[in-house]
Amino acid sequence: MKNAIFLDNAATTRTDPEVIDAMEPWLSEKFGSPATLYSMGSQAKQAIDAARQSFADLIGADQKDIFFTSGATESNNWAIKGVADALESKGRHIITDVAEHHSILMPLRYLEKKGWEVTYLPTDSDGMVNPEAVAAAIRDDTVLVSIVHANHEIGTIQPIAAIGKITSEKGVVFHVNAAQTVGHIPVDVNHLGVDLLSSSAHKFYGPKGVGAMYIRHGVRITPLLHGGTQEKKRRAGTHNVPGIVGMGKASEIARHSLEAEATRLAGLRNHILDWVESNIDDIRINGHRTERLPGNVNFSIEGIEGESIMLSLSYPTAGDARPIYVSTGSACVSGSLEPSHILLALGMPAELAHGSVRITMAKADTQEDVDYALEAIAAVAERLRSMSPVYKRGNKKCSAGSSSQGCDCEAAS
Ligand SMILES: *Cc1c(COP(=O)(O)O)cnc(C)c1O
Repeated sequence: MKNAIFLDNAATTRTDPEVIDAMEPWLSEKFGSPATLYSMGSQAKQAIDAARQSFADLIGADQKDIFFTSGATESNNWAIKGVADALESKGRHIITDVAEHHSILMPLRYLEKKGWEVTYLPTDSDGMVNPEAVAAAIRDDTVLVSIVHANHEIGTIQPIAAIGKITSEKGVVFHVNAAQTVGHIPVDVNHLGVDLLSSSAHKFYGPKGVGAMYIRHGVRITPLLHGGTQEKKRRAGTHNVPGIVGMGKASEIARHSLEAEATRLAGLRNHILDWVESNIDDIRINGHRTERLPGNVNFSIEGIEGESIMLSLSYPTAGDARPIYVSTGSACVSGSLEPSHILLALGMPAELAHGSVRITMAKADTQEDVDYALEAIAAVAERLRSMSPVYKRGNKKCSAGSSSQGCDCEAAS
C-alpha cells in the first residue's frame, strides 16, 4: 500500500521521533519511581520537574501551578467535579455552551443527575460563544464557567480573553479545555485570564495517556484521584514518567516551532477552503472563516454521507492510490447514523451535518499531500453524487429525510 496521508490530526498526532528518543531511557534503564529517595528515583523526580517547567513555559504559567494527569479527559473531569465539590456551599450552578466535547458534557450530565443546574449557552452559526451571554448567565450561585478554547470539529476559536475578563470581575472560576490549542497557537494563561486549563500531550506530537491541568494559585478544587501524595497531594498515583518526559519534550519543540508552523498551516487551510469552494458544487464551510485553528478545515458536501467519503478515501479502490484519512461529523453509533451534536448545535440541518468532512493537518502534511487529497475528495464526491437518488446539482435544498438514503448503517440494521 502506498504511503497514507493522515489528515485526522485533531483526533491524535504522530509522536515526534525526538519525543520518543527523550522517553526511551525512562522506559528502559531508568525505571525507578520518582517517589523513592535513592538516586534512580531522584533522577526521575528531576526529569518530571524539568518537564513541568517546559510545559509551564509553553502556556506562560508558573511551574508550581502545573499538575500532570492522564490527558484532557481526566483534566476536564477533574475541573468540573473538583470545583463542584469544593464550592458546593456557594451554589450549584455551572455555565457552559452547547458545542462542547463529550469529556465536558458527560461530567456535567453526571452533576445534573445529582441536582446541579447547568446553563448551556447557544453559539452562533459559526460555533462562537458570545461573552455578553456568559456575563448575563452568571448568577449568585454560579461556581464555574467552562468553555473550550477551540472546537475539535469545526476549529472555531472562542473569545476566551473576553470571557476571562468577565469571570474574573464576577469572581467565578473559569475553566478552559485547551486540548486543541496548546502547542498549536499561542496560549498564555494570564493573557487569557483562565483559572483552570486542560491539555493533552498526544494532540501536539507527544505520547498518548498523559496531559496536564493548570490550576491558578488559590483556586479551590478537590482531587479526583485520592491515594498517595504525588503532585502535592492533588493527583495520586505513580507518575507516568516516560509520558511526562515526552510531554515536556513536545512542549519544548512546540515553543520553538509553533509560530512558523501555525502560519504555514493557516496558509494550507485557506488554500483548501478556497479550493473546495471553487471546485465542488453545493458545499458549505463549517466553523468561523478566520477565527479558526490553523490546521482545521470542515465542510459539508450536500447529498452524500461524510462517512461514505471517509471510508472511500481510506480504502482506495485503485491499486496505486494513497489511502487518505479524514474524519466526519457523522458516525455509526450502535447501528444508527448519528450526526455530530456540535454541527446540530450550530443549527445545521441533519442532512448537511451528515455530509460533513473534517480535514485536520499537522507538521508532516505538505502542500503536495493536501493537493492529492483534494483531487481525491472531489472525485469521490462526484462518484457518490452520481449514484445518489436525492442529489440534484444546484438544488440547495435536499428533501427532508434524504439523509437516510445511502446510509450504510441503516441498510445494515
Ligand atoms: C482530544 C480531546 C479531548 C480528550 O483528550 P484525551 O487526552 O484524549 O483524553 C478533549 N477535548 C478536546 C477538545 C479534544 O480535542
